[in-house]
Amino acid sequence: SVLIAGSANLDFVVRSHHVPAPGETVLGRDFANFPGGKGANQAVAAARAGGADTQMLLGLGADAAAQVLEASLAKARVHMHVVRAASLATGVAFVCLSDSAENAITVAPGANNALKPEHLPSLTGVSHLLMQLETPVESITAYAQAARESGVQVVLNAAPAQSLPKALLDAVDVLIVNEGELAQVTGITGSVAEALAALTQVKTVVVTLGSRGCCAATGGGFRLQPAFPVEALDTTAAGDTFCGVLVAALARGQDLPEALRRASAAGALACTKLGAQSSIPTTAELDAFLAT
Ligand code: ADP
Repeated sequence: SVLIAGSANLDFVVRSHHVPAPGETVLGRDFANFPGGKGANQAVAAARAGGADTQMLLGLGADAAAQVLEASLAKARVHMHVVRAASLATGVAFVCLSDSAENAITVAPGANNALKPEHLPSLTGVSHLLMQLETPVESITAYAQAARESGVQVVLNAAPAQSLPKALLDAVDVLIVNEGELAQVTGITGSVAEALAALTQVKTVVVTLGSRGCCAATGGGFRLQPAFPVEALDTTAAGDTFCGVLVAALARGQDLPEALRRASAAGALACTKLGAQSSIPTTAELDAFLAT
């Protein structure tokens, strides 16, 4: 099975003509709440794509937001390992979304920071551990090391971008980054090829390129997967959908090219609907899209 260790946030989304510049106030339109957080989004994506059982380790407060997030994960049949931090607010994200599908996001992590190294559940039956960087990096590092020691494949989506401790990078089998994150992780800006060449300790590096698709470098090989053209309405969770679907495919034993193709199609579909978890396609929707 796939274990996701990561964040769950309730997204507060306002759409407006453009994302406000610093100091600017814009009058927005419809307001909505959506279950989100990179970890929970990726768990829902993996569960909808997987068939195989999907588990998630997450930190929540004891508030109404926590109930919304648990309901969404339960609906997607994600088995939850909840660290309950009654003194902390459940994580929230304030999302400004523009008519041209650009976004600007501030996250208040709250109870996501309650995930500690000792909270890792049993890895028995787990083939892949998928993590992001919205929970404390010391905990992520400890989980990665424990998984590596147990022979579990460690997949890290290094988002939001930050530089990584060497101990973490050394325990990662598959790294998934966009161009900005690749530059942050390696300290090399400008050339994707040059940055990839600096990441020799990671077996497989996948770089997502938005509407230009994605590429993967693995064992000296290089592969380009073009994007599936769609009319993008809201790109929130495209990257998360990509990560969850990629790992679910790998856990089912599909090879990297096929996993990249499914992940790209799912990422494209996620761009066509509003919201985070609400925009993630099911296996049936994904198969229908790939068959056209
Ligand atoms: P992130 O949001 O993490 O920066 P990307 O924007 O690179 O991630 O999106 C992840 C993947 O989703 C891309 O590699 C691509 O396959 C798909 N995707 C994203 N935006 C689009 C788009 N506008 N059209 C088609 N596919 C897209």
